[in-house]
Amino acid sequence: MKPAPFRYVAARSLEQALQLKAAHGDEARFLAGGQSLVPTMNFRLTQPALLIDINPLTACAGVQQSGARSVRIGALTRYRTLERDAETARNLPLLREALPHIAHPQIRNRGTIGGNLAHADPASEMPAIVLALAGRLRAQSVRGERWIAAAEFFKGALTTALEPDEMLTEVELPAAPPRSGACFMEVARRRGDFAIIGVACTVELDGDGSCRQARIALCNAGDGPIFARAASASLAGRSIGAAETAAAAALVQGEIDPGGNVHASRDYQRHIAGVLTARALKTANERAQRGH
Ligand SMILES: Cc1cc2nc3c(=O)[nH]c(=O)nc-3n(C[C@H](O)[C@H](O)[C@H](O)COP(=O)(O)OP(=O)(O)OC[C@H]3O[C@@H](n4cnc5c(N)ncnc54)[C@H](O)[C@@H]3O)c2cc1C
Repeated sequence: MKPAPFRYVAARSLEQALQLKAAHGDEARFLAGGQSLVPTMNFRLTQPALLIDINPLTACAGVQQSGARSVRIGALTRYRTLERDAETARNLPLLREALPHIAHPQIRNRGTIGGNLAHADPASEMPAIVLALAGRLRAQSVRGERWIAAAEFFKGALTTALEPDEMLTEVELPAAPPRSGACFMEVARRRGDFAIIGVACTVELDGDGSCRQARIALCNAGDGPIFARAASASLAGRSIGAAETAAAAALVQGEIDPGGNVHASRDYQRHIAGVLTARALKTANERAQRGH
């Protein structure tokens, strides 16, 4: 299939991109890596009248330390850049571990973190990672800018809190604190496929080795990324062992609402969510105990 006719503008500046979006609203789409947008246009599921190519906006790409304890990633940063970035590996081990699970290297060469988050596919890894890390997202428009907490950003399948005139320009994530560990695991039919279920978790320890705070988020477990609130809260103040991970896994199974699909029934997804939660929590806790 070929896309419906559209106009194309390569943005010369962020201001121009925002002005065009303000003028055309939902009739216009930003073109980032094109790895989700172009296929949907070719199937004519999306028929934008105008494509605003933001690839020339190189200032919107890159990773930088923000203060002592957080990292800012420009929306146009490609997965491949993140995979090869030493700061990302050191400060964002959860995100780093999830990256190789996203599609194939060719797609990771083009796909951007901003395009992925704005697309908000419930099966995508990055929304669950940003939710597990309690990150925040910067939206800019001709009206100004605002920061949106990850918990407020994802509104459902392929739906975000972005207004029709807004562009996602940056993501801010807290760097992994001392005495913390993280783990991402997923099951997919084949390497590079979207996850049947994916689990992201972080564990932060107190001085005595008990859990100060744990956060668990899942992909492809509902209408959008799911933060497992009860399961996460169940671990605070406890020393994480087999009983605690099993209890948290059972809570996760009750907190998710997977849709089932041709690859996996809802029951199978729920089963896998429990298995992966227990394994990922155990691994994250071991990493925290070891100090990385
Ligand atoms: C074969 C295949 C396998 C894949 N497997 C996976 C997978 O396993 N996991 C996964 O997570 N993804 C997967 N993807 C999707 C891939 O990760 C996409 O790259 C990503 O979802 C979109 O990023 P992009 O930069 O290509 O965005 P684009 O396709 O350019 O844009 C996607 C949408 O976001 C909007 N947009 C883009 N940037 C912005 C911005 N800065 N602000 C506001 N709106 C914006 C666009 O207008 C469009 O509506 C796969 C894709 C393919 C083709």
